[in-house]
Amino acid sequence: MEQGAEDVPVVYLHEIKRQYTQGTETLTILDGAKLALWAGQSVALVAPSGAGKSTLLHIAGLLETPDDGEVYVGGAPTSQLSDIERTMIRRSDIGFVYQSHRLLPEFTALENVMLPQMIQGLKRAETVKRATEILAYLGLGERIKHRPSELSGGEQQRVAIARAVANAPRVLFADEPTGNLDPHTADHVFGALMQLVAATRVAMLIVTHNMELAGRMDRRVSLADGKVVELD
Ligand code: ADP
Repeated sequence: MEQGAEDVPVVYLHEIKRQYTQGTETLTILDGAKLALWAGQSVALVAPSGAGKSTLLHIAGLLETPDDGEVYVGGAPTSQLSDIERTMIRRSDIGFVYQSHRLLPEFTALENVMLPQMIQGLKRAETVKRATEILAYLGLGERIKHRPSELSGGEQQRVAIARAVANAPRVLFADEPTGNLDPHTADHVFGALMQLVAATRVAMLIVTHNMELAGRMDRRVSLADGKVVELD
């Protein structure tokens, strides 16, 4: 990482506003939300259903544009960028993990992790090497040739994590990544995420309803009246 890169947040949300219009009614979901995500820090986002957690993740991950405010990635504002420029940042700097693994069923674990790298233009041999390494690092070295349907829920989710970090993103967003898993498996998958934060200094924002897991992260935030509030 270049010198000084850790002096600015990896992602900074400044005064984010997001409204949805349904018929004649306007719902204000985010209303001046501010949040800084730092390299090597895990942050739990804990808030009731409908509070705007997914909306916040989608805006921070450049999947959705806010109605007002600015999303800075590595200190650079993104609101004036073209769709193509935003997509390029998303591919190189941002990873997503969802509650369901969203792996491609016809492809093996290895191929699922190779794909984002191939889209980035890496040579096939390089993608095979990197995907094999990441999967082995996450304890899936014996499973690389398996299709998603031949893997357990915890294994599928670890492949999804491997895919999300395949291009060495600066930030990883996870929307209830352990929500579909039994407690023991959830613990294992959560451990894999924490291991990645420590090893790669990726910034991580994880939506979870699990207070025990949230308690093991570096920082906890919530959403109240459309704003991000620190817990503790
Ligand atoms: P959470 O992830 O905390 O459950 P969401 O961010 O998914 O909350 O949604 C927040 C609120 O915004 C909900 O009331 C939801 O119905 C509404 N909402 C989300 N997306 C849309 C949309 N595309 N159009 C209209 N309303 C939406």
